[in-house]
Amino acid sequence: MMNINQLASNLGAMPASPKMPVLFVGHGNPMNAITDNSFRREWQQLGQKLPLPRAVLCVSAHWLTRGTAVTMMDHPRTIHDFGGFPDELYRQQYPAPGAVAEAKSTIEKVKSVVIREDFEWGLDHGAWSVLKSMYPQADVPVYQLSIDYGKPAGYHYNLARELAFLRNRGVLIVASGNVVHNLGMVKWRGETAPYDWALEFDDLVKKSIETHNDQTLVEYHQAGRIASLAHPTNDHYLPLMYVLGVREKDEDFWFFNDSFDMGSISMRSVVFGG
Ligand code: ZN
Repeated sequence: MMNINQLASNLGAMPASPKMPVLFVGHGNPMNAITDNSFRREWQQLGQKLPLPRAVLCVSAHWLTRGTAVTMMDHPRTIHDFGGFPDELYRQQYPAPGAVAEAKSTIEKVKSVVIREDFEWGLDHGAWSVLKSMYPQADVPVYQLSIDYGKPAGYHYNLARELAFLRNRGVLIVASGNVVHNLGMVKWRGETAPYDWALEFDDLVKKSIETHNDQTLVEYHQAGRIASLAHPTNDHYLPLMYVLGVREKDEDFWFFNDSFDMGSISMRSVVFGG
Protein backbone atom coordinates (compact mmCIF):
# COMPACT_ATOMS: atom_id res chain seq x y z
CA MET A 1 0.00 0.00 0.00
CA MET A 2 1.12 3.49 -0.79
CA ASN A 3 1.21 5.87 2.18
CA ILE A 4 -0.18 9.36 1.90
CA ASN A 5 3.22 10.99 1.39
CA GLN A 6 4.10 8.64 -1.45
CA LEU A 7 0.72 9.26 -3.00
CA ALA A 8 1.20 13.02 -2.76
CA SER A 9 4.66 12.85 -4.27
CA ASN A 10 3.44 10.63 -7.10
CA LEU A 11 0.62 13.01 -7.86
CA GLY A 12 3.08 15.87 -7.76
CA ALA A 13 5.21 14.13 -10.35
CA MET A 14 2.30 13.81 -12.71
CA PRO A 15 1.21 16.98 -14.47
CA ALA A 16 -2.44 17.38 -15.35
CA SER A 17 -1.82 16.69 -19.00
CA PRO A 18 -4.32 15.41 -21.51
CA LYS A 19 -3.92 11.86 -22.72
CA MET A 20 -1.19 11.96 -25.31
CA PRO A 21 -1.68 10.62 -28.80
CA VAL A 22 0.49 7.79 -30.11
CA LEU A 23 2.50 7.99 -33.30
CA PHE A 24 3.85 5.43 -35.72
CA VAL A 25 6.11 7.12 -38.21
CA GLY A 26 7.70 5.73 -41.34
CA HIS A 27 11.20 7.25 -41.35
CA GLY A 28 12.62 5.73 -44.57
CA ASN A 29 15.76 7.20 -46.07
CA PRO A 30 18.01 8.99 -43.53
CA MET A 31 18.24 11.89 -46.02
CA ASN A 32 14.64 12.74 -45.11
CA ALA A 33 16.19 14.39 -42.03
CA ILE A 34 17.65 17.21 -44.13
CA THR A 35 15.75 17.10 -47.43
CA ASP A 36 12.88 19.48 -47.99
CA ASN A 37 10.27 16.96 -49.15
CA SER A 38 6.65 16.15 -48.42
CA PHE A 39 7.55 13.53 -45.80
CA ARG A 40 9.62 15.95 -43.77
CA ARG A 41 7.09 18.75 -44.12
CA GLU A 42 4.49 16.45 -42.57
CA TRP A 43 6.83 15.78 -39.64
CA GLN A 44 7.34 19.50 -39.18
CA GLN A 45 3.60 20.13 -39.16
CA LEU A 46 3.00 17.25 -36.80
CA GLY A 47 5.18 18.89 -34.17
CA GLN A 48 2.85 21.90 -34.31
CA LYS A 49 -0.35 19.91 -34.51
CA LEU A 50 0.04 17.45 -31.64
CA PRO A 51 -0.15 18.56 -28.01
CA LEU A 52 3.32 19.42 -26.74
CA PRO A 53 4.59 16.37 -24.84
CA ARG A 54 6.46 16.48 -21.57
CA ALA A 55 8.76 13.82 -23.02
CA VAL A 56 9.04 11.47 -25.97
CA LEU A 57 9.59 7.73 -25.80
CA CYS A 58 10.95 6.51 -29.10
CA VAL A 59 10.93 2.86 -30.15
CA SER A 60 13.16 2.80 -33.20
CA ALA A 61 13.80 0.06 -35.75
CA HIS A 62 17.48 0.86 -35.36
CA TRP A 63 17.98 -0.15 -31.75
CA LEU A 64 17.85 -3.93 -31.67
CA THR A 65 19.09 -5.71 -28.58
CA ARG A 66 18.95 -8.95 -26.68
CA GLY A 67 16.49 -8.21 -23.89
CA THR A 68 14.93 -4.76 -23.53
CA ALA A 69 16.65 -1.58 -22.42
CA VAL A 70 15.86 2.11 -21.94
CA THR A 71 18.33 4.95 -22.36
CA MET A 72 19.14 6.57 -19.01
CA MET A 73 21.56 9.35 -19.90
CA ASP A 74 20.90 13.04 -19.24
CA HIS A 75 22.35 13.97 -22.61
CA PRO A 76 21.93 11.21 -25.21
CA ARG A 77 24.39 11.46 -28.10
CA THR A 78 23.27 11.73 -31.71
CA ILE A 79 24.10 8.44 -33.45
CA HIS A 80 24.87 8.49 -37.17
CA ASP A 81 24.05 4.86 -37.79
CA PHE A 82 24.22 4.73 -41.56
CA GLY A 83 26.87 4.66 -44.25
CA GLY A 84 27.61 6.39 -47.54
CA PHE A 85 25.68 9.60 -47.08
CA PRO A 86 26.78 13.24 -47.56
CA ASP A 87 28.82 14.95 -44.85
CA GLU A 88 25.95 17.26 -44.06
CA LEU A 89 23.98 14.32 -42.69
CA TYR A 90 26.87 13.30 -40.41
CA ARG A 91 27.13 16.85 -39.12
CA GLN A 92 23.55 16.79 -37.83
CA GLN A 93 23.17 16.88 -34.08
CA TYR A 94 20.05 16.57 -31.99
CA PRO A 95 20.93 17.69 -28.49
CA ALA A 96 17.57 16.95 -26.82
CA PRO A 97 17.93 16.14 -23.12
CA GLY A 98 17.25 12.62 -21.89
CA ALA A 99 14.15 11.70 -19.89
CA VAL A 100 15.66 9.78 -17.00
CA ALA A 101 12.63 10.01 -14.69
CA GLU A 102 10.37 8.62 -17.40
CA ALA A 103 12.86 5.88 -18.19
CA LYS A 104 12.88 4.92 -14.51
CA SER A 105 9.11 4.88 -14.32
CA THR A 106 9.05 2.66 -17.40
CA ILE A 107 11.37 0.18 -15.71
CA GLU A 108 9.22 0.22 -12.58
CA LYS A 109 5.83 -0.08 -14.24
CA VAL A 110 6.55 -2.80 -16.75
CA LYS A 111 6.13 -6.06 -14.88
CA SER A 112 6.36 -8.80 -17.50
CA VAL A 113 9.90 -7.96 -18.58
CA VAL A 114 13.00 -6.84 -16.72
CA ILE A 115 14.07 -3.70 -18.57
CA ARG A 116 17.71 -2.82 -18.14
CA GLU A 117 19.26 0.62 -17.84
CA ASP A 118 21.38 1.70 -20.78
CA PHE A 119 24.08 4.34 -20.69
CA GLU A 120 25.67 3.59 -24.07
CA TRP A 121 23.15 4.17 -26.82
CA GLY A 122 21.70 7.64 -27.44
CA LEU A 123 19.40 8.73 -30.25
CA ASP A 124 19.68 6.76 -33.47
CA HIS A 125 18.50 8.12 -36.80
CA GLY A 126 15.14 6.37 -36.50
CA ALA A 127 14.56 8.75 -33.60
CA TRP A 128 16.39 11.98 -34.40
CA SER A 129 15.70 12.19 -38.14
CA VAL A 130 12.01 12.54 -37.32
CA LEU A 131 12.18 14.35 -33.97
CA LYS A 132 14.52 17.01 -35.31
CA SER A 133 11.77 17.98 -37.73
CA MET A 134 8.98 17.74 -35.17
CA TYR A 135 10.78 19.58 -32.37
CA PRO A 136 13.62 21.52 -34.00
CA GLN A 137 14.49 23.34 -30.77
CA ALA A 138 15.46 19.98 -29.23
CA ASP A 139 13.68 21.09 -26.07
CA VAL A 140 11.51 18.00 -25.52
CA PRO A 141 13.30 15.32 -23.48
CA VAL A 142 13.67 12.00 -25.30
CA TYR A 143 14.47 8.45 -24.28
CA GLN A 144 14.53 5.27 -26.30
CA LEU A 145 13.29 1.76 -25.60
CA SER A 146 15.12 -0.99 -27.46
CA ILE A 147 13.55 -3.82 -29.42
CA ASP A 148 14.33 -7.32 -28.17
CA TYR A 149 15.10 -8.68 -31.58
CA GLY A 150 14.86 -12.33 -30.69
CA LYS A 151 11.17 -12.09 -29.93
CA PRO A 152 8.08 -12.44 -32.15
CA ALA A 153 5.69 -9.62 -32.95
CA GLY A 154 3.15 -10.79 -30.35
CA TYR A 155 5.73 -10.39 -27.62
CA HIS A 156 6.23 -6.75 -28.54
CA TYR A 157 2.50 -6.16 -28.79
CA ASN A 158 2.00 -7.46 -25.24
CA LEU A 159 4.92 -5.50 -23.88
CA ALA A 160 3.52 -2.35 -25.47
CA ARG A 161 0.26 -2.73 -23.57
CA GLU A 162 2.20 -2.13 -20.38
CA LEU A 163 3.45 1.19 -21.72
CA ALA A 164 -0.03 2.68 -22.04
CA PHE A 165 0.33 4.48 -18.68
CA LEU A 166 2.84 6.83 -20.29
CA ARG A 167 0.09 8.47 -22.31
CA ASN A 168 -1.40 9.85 -19.09
CA ARG A 169 1.96 11.20 -18.02
CA GLY A 170 2.34 13.51 -20.99
CA VAL A 171 4.70 11.15 -22.82
CA LEU A 172 4.37 10.90 -26.58
CA ILE A 173 5.16 7.37 -27.76
CA VAL A 174 6.83 7.55 -31.17
CA ALA A 175 7.39 4.22 -32.88
CA SER A 176 9.67 4.65 -35.87
CA GLY A 177 9.96 2.02 -38.61
CA ASN A 178 8.28 1.39 -41.96
CA VAL A 179 5.12 -0.52 -42.90
CA VAL A 180 6.95 -1.92 -45.95
CA HIS A 181 10.77 -2.01 -45.90
CA ASN A 182 12.77 -3.97 -48.45
CA LEU A 183 16.14 -2.29 -48.98
CA GLY A 184 17.33 -4.99 -51.37
CA MET A 185 14.62 -4.07 -53.86
CA VAL A 186 14.85 -0.30 -53.62
CA LYS A 187 14.64 1.47 -56.99
CA TRP A 188 17.35 4.11 -56.85
CA ARG A 189 16.62 5.87 -60.12
CA GLY A 190 14.28 5.94 -63.04
CA GLU A 191 10.88 4.42 -62.60
CA THR A 192 10.08 4.21 -58.88
CA ALA A 193 6.45 3.08 -58.78
CA PRO A 194 5.73 0.78 -55.85
CA TYR A 195 5.79 -2.96 -56.41
CA ASP A 196 2.45 -4.77 -56.44
CA TRP A 197 3.39 -6.86 -53.41
CA ALA A 198 4.39 -3.67 -51.57
CA LEU A 199 1.04 -2.02 -52.29
CA GLU A 200 -0.74 -5.17 -51.26
CA PHE A 201 1.01 -5.49 -47.91
CA ASP A 202 0.64 -1.77 -47.23
CA ASP A 203 -3.07 -2.09 -47.89
CA LEU A 204 -3.34 -5.09 -45.59
CA VAL A 205 -1.82 -3.03 -42.79
CA LYS A 206 -4.06 -0.05 -43.55
CA LYS A 207 -7.23 -2.15 -43.56
CA SER A 208 -6.24 -4.03 -40.43
CA ILE A 209 -5.65 -0.76 -38.60
CA GLU A 210 -8.99 0.58 -39.85
CA THR A 211 -10.86 -2.49 -38.64
CA HIS A 212 -8.81 -2.79 -35.46
CA ASN A 213 -7.71 -6.24 -36.52
CA ASP A 214 -4.59 -6.48 -34.38
CA GLN A 215 -4.41 -10.23 -34.72
CA THR A 216 -3.75 -10.02 -38.45
CA LEU A 217 -1.00 -7.47 -37.80
CA VAL A 218 0.60 -9.56 -35.06
CA GLU A 219 0.44 -12.68 -37.22
CA TYR A 220 1.47 -10.85 -40.36
CA HIS A 221 3.59 -13.80 -41.48
CA GLN A 222 0.40 -15.53 -42.42
CA ALA A 223 0.11 -13.16 -45.36
CA GLY A 224 2.87 -15.31 -46.87
CA ARG A 225 4.81 -14.03 -49.87
CA ILE A 226 3.78 -10.39 -49.60
CA ALA A 227 4.82 -10.35 -45.93
CA SER A 228 8.25 -11.82 -46.57
CA LEU A 229 8.82 -9.44 -49.46
CA ALA A 230 7.64 -6.46 -47.41
CA HIS A 231 9.92 -7.47 -44.52
CA PRO A 232 12.86 -9.72 -45.40
CA THR A 233 13.84 -8.86 -41.81
CA ASN A 234 11.21 -7.47 -39.47
CA ASP A 235 13.17 -4.74 -37.65
CA HIS A 236 11.17 -1.97 -39.34
CA TYR A 237 7.86 -3.73 -38.81
CA LEU A 238 8.16 -4.43 -35.09
CA PRO A 239 7.84 -0.76 -34.00
CA LEU A 240 4.26 -0.88 -35.29
CA MET A 241 3.45 -3.30 -32.46
CA TYR A 242 4.24 -0.56 -29.96
CA VAL A 243 1.43 1.68 -31.19
CA LEU A 244 -1.08 -1.12 -31.64
CA GLY A 245 -0.48 -2.23 -28.07
CA VAL A 246 -1.23 1.19 -26.58
CA ARG A 247 -4.07 2.08 -28.91
CA GLU A 248 -7.49 2.26 -27.31
CA LYS A 249 -10.69 0.77 -28.57
CA ASP A 250 -12.64 3.20 -30.77
CA GLU A 251 -9.91 5.80 -30.62
CA ASP A 252 -9.74 8.23 -33.54
CA PHE A 253 -6.81 7.85 -35.88
CA TRP A 254 -5.47 9.32 -39.08
CA PHE A 255 -2.89 8.32 -41.62
CA PHE A 256 -0.31 10.61 -43.17
CA ASN A 257 2.62 10.20 -45.58
CA ASP A 258 0.69 7.29 -47.04
CA SER A 259 2.82 6.88 -50.13
CA PHE A 260 5.93 5.02 -51.22
CA ASP A 261 9.56 5.98 -51.56
CA MET A 262 11.85 4.15 -53.98
CA GLY A 263 9.29 1.46 -54.77
CA SER A 264 9.78 -0.72 -51.73
CA ILE A 265 9.58 1.65 -48.73
CA SER A 266 6.12 2.53 -47.44
CA MET A 267 6.16 5.82 -45.61
CA ARG A 268 2.64 5.25 -44.25
CA SER A 269 2.36 6.74 -40.78
CA VAL A 270 -0.50 6.89 -38.31
CA VAL A 271 -1.55 8.90 -35.30
CA PHE A 272 -3.95 7.45 -32.73
CA GLY A 273 -5.85 9.79 -30.46
CA GLY A 274 -4.44 12.93 -32.04
ZN1 ZN B 1 15.38 2.71 -40.89
